[in-house]
Amino acid sequence: MNLFNINTRQILVILGLLSISFASMAMTKPENVDVMDINGTRIHTFHGISNSHIIETKNALFMIDAQFMFKHADQLKSYIESIGKPMNMIVLSHNHPDHWFGTERLKGVAPIATSQNVIDDLKTGGGRYLKVLKKKLKGQLPEKVVVPDQTLALGAQQWGGLEVILEEFPEQEAHHTLIVKIPSLGVLIAQDMVYNNMFLVASERSRNQHWKEQLGQLKDKESKAYPHVLTGHGKNGGPELYQQNIDYLTDLENVMKENLSKEETTKKMIALYPERGGKGMLQISMRNLFSKGH
Ligand SMILES: [Zn+2]
Repeated sequence: MNLFNINTRQILVILGLLSISFASMAMTKPENVDVMDINGTRIHTFHGISNSHIIETKNALFMIDAQFMFKHADQLKSYIESIGKPMNMIVLSHNHPDHWFGTERLKGVAPIATSQNVIDDLKTGGGRYLKVLKKKLKGQLPEKVVVPDQTLALGAQQWGGLEVILEEFPEQEAHHTLIVKIPSLGVLIAQDMVYNNMFLVASERSRNQHWKEQLGQLKDKESKAYPHVLTGHGKNGGPELYQQNIDYLTDLENVMKENLSKEETTKKMIALYPERGGKGMLQISMRNLFSKGH
């Protein structure tokens, strides 16, 4: 086709095609979002530094965790708006900053809710994270701890017509971690109890041991009923992730038994897991393991 001989009809066709492609561009989901559809119910996972999972029920949204840096929280907010349903509740899984700093930017979106123990952990430990990260994250973190608006009871409840079960596990990656089970979908939202191919934020050795025991319980008890395991860091996966995390914590404990320096221990872990993401999280683990009073 000679470009100088385009007639009006051809111009209209070209304009029409362009508008279709612009419209589909606007609706395209961002690269850092994964969506799973189980029997017509969608769960959207937004991957920032940590994962936020949005459960889309018939008429409403429910979200687990709210990002670390403001720039990711703002992207998350736009993504929520693009789904076009009201957010009913933002649930915090634990008190680590990569899961709640972003709540500051989502304050008007929905009430923020979590268990009494996680609220207490935020009140006692939240301020320390703000102090430590103030310089590093300038302009990307709240001025003060965002205390949740609602206390959630544990056990079975209805979220937008969907039965969910809330359970809490003490003293592993965090002091308390809330997990969300959705029996009808076979979905277990484990958050930071389960990472996928990332360095874990390990804690002191006794807590890591406790973490392994809890992962063993989840593996034995929940693998069959919950084929979908949603993580706090890395891609979502299945029950195979429990063993992946147990193996990592076992390797870490074996290296710790060698009584090496912090630097040598770090090097050994990287040599064992050269492909893993989240080397910054390995540094946090080393601080937790080699300093007193964590
Ligand atoms: Zn985390």
